[in-house]
Amino acid sequence: MKTSQTNQQTQSKNFICTIIGHRYQETRKVTNHFSEYSCKCCGKQMTEDTRGRLIQLTPELKEINATLSLLFQRRHLVNS
Ligand SMILES: [Zn+2]
Repeated sequence: MKTSQTNQQTQSKNFICTIIGHRYQETRKVTNHFSEYSCKCCGKQMTEDTRGRLIQLTPELKEINATLSLLFQRRHLVNS
């Protein structure tokens, strides 16, 4: 039986994350209160909800974050 090497690697990385937890690093600052993160180990992407809890970064949330980021930068420019 032939198994995919890539699949096995992904699974073992996910296994490590399951045991010791994801190692998130900030990949993008959306506003002062929101950021996007990705796991150094498996590459899983997360963002924060309105209560500051980490939630999975879906394509929809990514779009919302991009809009928020633009609005935040624009407001920041006006204020300064
Ligand atoms: Zn991970």
